[in-house]
Amino acid sequence: MDILGIIEKMLKGIEVKLNCDFFDGREKYENIAKKIIFTGQIDKYYNYRFGELEYRGLKFETDILNEENYQGNAVVNYTEYEIPYTRIIEHKHFEYGMQNKTIITKEYPNDWDKEKEPYYPINDDKNNNLYKKYKQLSEKDHKVLFGGRLGQYKYYDMDKIIEEALGCVNKEMP
Ligand SMILES: Cc1cc2nc3c(=O)[nH]c(=O)nc-3n(C[C@H](O)[C@H](O)[C@H](O)COP(=O)(O)OP(=O)(O)OC[C@H]3O[C@@H](n4cnc5c(N)ncnc54)[C@H](O)[C@@H]3O)c2cc1C
Repeated sequence: MDILGIIEKMLKGIEVKLNCDFFDGREKYENIAKKIIFTGQIDKYYNYRFGELEYRGLKFETDILNEENYQGNAVVNYTEYEIPYTRIIEHKHFEYGMQNKTIITKEYPNDWDKEKEPYYPINDDKNNNLYKKYKQLSEKDHKVLFGGRLGQYKYYDMDKIIEEALGCVNKEMP
């Protein structure tokens, strides 16, 4: 079974709505169940009452190249100071693509403000202390569980976030 099949099976019998912003229908979503899992920004959920958490932004530059193969691999990271991008993704290699052309995306570090996508939390003392205040507030809030990189203000790799989600389910529904 491929990944889509696994996800379809997991969601069987569950109503799924896509492209809905929680904050555009907050009252409705908060009352949809006795307890909700929120995977958005915890500071936004609490209307930034203690202040705003900061994130690292990213900028993407995508090119179609007239060659079969650019880098021979899906992801190559660049850590050199002189190179402005941090990695190059060559999409066809995720799926063993055999096309004549190839598409690459360069990822550049970028500033962040509230209008932009929050990519990585900045886990320095200032932001961690602010997050602690939101976490303490959330612990008294028994109607909502905060999950994931935005809800818990923490970087997770894919395998770790799945482990965390399964741990959460086991705790909530032993
Ligand atoms: C740029 C980047 C590169 C990465 N590269 C790797 C990698 O190479 N390998 C690896 O293992 N991991 C990588 N990760 C980490 C991986 O993406 C995360 O582990 C994973 O996505 C975390 O899952 P999550 O559920 O916490 O967050 P997300 O996947 O971000 O899910 C949160 C969900 O909540 C939804 N949401 C948020 N706010 C709202 C709202 N207001 N209303 C409705 N819905 C909302 C979002 O739409 C999203 O679907 C990378 C992360 C980033 C940002």
